[in-house]
Amino acid sequence: MTSTGGVDVLVEKDIDVPKVSSEDVLLKVVGCGICYRDTLARRGFARLRLPVIPGHAIAGRVVEVGDGVLEEFKRNDLVVSLPYVYDPRDPRCVEGEENICRSKMQIGEERDGCYAEYISLPYWVLVKVSDSGQVPEEAYSLASCPLGPPIRALKTIAKAQKGETVLVTGASGGIGLHAVQIAKAYGLKVIATTRSEEKAEKIRRVSNPDHIIVHKGKFSEEVKKLTDGEGADYAIEAVGGPTLMETIRALKWGGKVLLIGNIDPSPQQVMLGLIIIRENSIIGVLNCNKEELREAVELLRKGLVKPIYTTIPLDQDHVRKAHQTLEKGESFGRIVIKPG
Ligand SMILES: [Zn+2]
Repeated sequence: MTSTGGVDVLVEKDIDVPKVSSEDVLLKVVGCGICYRDTLARRGFARLRLPVIPGHAIAGRVVEVGDGVLEEFKRNDLVVSLPYVYDPRDPRCVEGEENICRSKMQIGEERDGCYAEYISLPYWVLVKVSDSGQVPEEAYSLASCPLGPPIRALKTIAKAQKGETVLVTGASGGIGLHAVQIAKAYGLKVIATTRSEEKAEKIRRVSNPDHIIVHKGKFSEEVKKLTDGEGADYAIEAVGGPTLMETIRALKWGGKVLLIGNIDPSPQQVMLGLIIIRENSIIGVLNCNKEELREAVELLRKGLVKPIYTTIPLDQDHVRKAHQTLEKGESFGRIVIKPG
């Protein structure tokens, strides 16, 4: 990515294989997810160090390890990475909250990412996939993103209990399709929303929520009907601005919005009075920590979450087209770059 703007700022270039310093692991990228966040970054809605190689959803095979790397990592191991690099020696990087550490750098924005054949990363941001099971190796690129944030939202932040109800907006997107499955794996009752009948059919087939609401903007009344008039305990808000007000209305008193995605970076109107009188909360959820990344790998490995994605080769035309597909809301599941 040479500058910010339209898809033409994504330019294919030959560069050297990254250098490996003593604490680094050089990976051959086997899967690199393309995230909606990448399109926002490309348009300039992120802190960037340009030029930069985009891509933060990484699965790779170990090619080379520096001499200061833990013995755990060996040549040819399959690993996944956090979507950011933090500094374990910085006192501001508290274990378990490394995702909000002030000195961390977002991979693919502030340092080079995985729209490439190779990437070099410090060993402490990596989690080893000891046994990939029945799952293709590139599918593990979904572990940090989109699986990480819904795991963090439901398990760590909400501490959701079996039998509680969660609303998932934008259920056909990368976050939504997997958030539905994660919630089901945790024993929650899931109500999913989407805007098209065609996508609803696909969602039913691949992630199987308890209920799907196909809507043209309003869905809170329907959620109330499905929850004996109470509303949902939680909402995984994967759309953001365009659905947020309806999502708040769809919650029960005391219910929480777990805000994971936002497709519209402009300021939004929210009725604050409604939040006060029903004591709702809106909680931002950013990425995941290492423990949650390990959990994501396990859910994939055990087949509790089925990775929904299509692959493209690593070339300029396919990558540009993938960004356009995401921006038009036409993707179903993840688009994963699988370098040859
Ligand atoms: Zn992402």
